Amino acid sequence: MSYISISRSNFFHNLDLISAQIGSKDKLFVVLKDNAYGHGLKEMANLSKEYGIKQCAVKSVNEALKVKDLFPYILVLSDLPKVKLDNVGIAINDINTITKIPKGSLVELKVDTGMHRNGIKPEDIQRAIEMVKQKGLILRGVFSHFRSADELTSEYFWQRENFKEVKREVKRVCQELSVKTPYFHSHNSAAIFRNQNFDDDFARSGISIYGYHYLSYPLPNPPLKPVLSLWAEKLSQRELKKGERVGYGGIFEAKRDMIVSTYDIGYGDGFFRYNGIGELKVANNKPILGRVSMDSMTLEGESDKVCLFNDATNLANFFDTITYEIITNLSPHIKRVIV
Ligand SMILES: *Cc1c(COP(=O)(O)O)cnc(C)c1O
Repeated sequence: MSYISISRSNFFHNLDLISAQIGSKDKLFVVLKDNAYGHGLKEMANLSKEYGIKQCAVKSVNEALKVKDLFPYILVLSDLPKVKLDNVGIAINDINTITKIPKGSLVELKVDTGMHRNGIKPEDIQRAIEMVKQKGLILRGVFSHFRSADELTSEYFWQRENFKEVKREVKRVCQELSVKTPYFHSHNSAAIFRNQNFDDDFARSGISIYGYHYLSYPLPNPPLKPVLSLWAEKLSQRELKKGERVGYGGIFEAKRDMIVSTYDIGYGDGFFRYNGIGELKVANNKPILGRVSMDSMTLEGESDKVCLFNDATNLANFFDTITYEIITNLSPHIKRVIV
């Protein structure tokens, strides 16, 4: 059967680099949303704990419950719980959700510093913290998100200035209302590697912990190492005679007699559906022959197993997308093996 191989040493190498950049591994939220970017939630949560990470961010309450015993604290980014949960903080993305969160819950207020996607407006900080207090919620954090930290523009800098202003305002309001000053965090992977003077309490890293980075030239890119590789096993082997064609639509035609094998991964497993046009090579540098099927694809040769990729960058470029999409697409049903 096909499987995903997870490199513990590459993961720890990435965590070393990120921790050094922000000053300590205690300041790092590992972002494990969407099945840990396709790597496997349980597997990456266990490895993070082994490394000594104290907190993670996930998308849903359901994900949080799956890793609840592995971290002292978990932040849920995009979901509301039905009941109060002990070591779980709930992100407030909209001021109107404050009244829907169970009393006694830990919450984190997201403030919109310029991305205009989620979060309350800076001018609503006072009202939001008053509502949090009135509802009997515990304000654990205040955070924001950068829209263009990966680009060589001033965008990152003005947003960071806005967040500094947010911090001042939150501190003022908390003092006035006798609310404990919350923790602050704003940096994602790209922002972490742009800031040589990190001064938030925490940072949230997703893509970089998995070994990818995105700073546009000439911003310095750290030597991160991809953690995941995707492997497929042989289902069958045959000889193709010159002129015979492979797979749906018969897109690939053998120009000579050749041995081909079919492997057990396809678009149903989350590998992008290559339509056989243009040349797409897998990790051993062999081109995929014809279209990718739902559960299989064909390559030249007789190997019992093949590595389809150990770095998602080429696939992302080929499909005109980002590595995030290539890896998060991988089916949770594929077996994960930690090496
Ligand atoms: C996904 C996400 C992150 C992680 O972003 P990366 O670019 O993968 O580091 C951080 N913060 C929030 C709010 C997110 O939704």
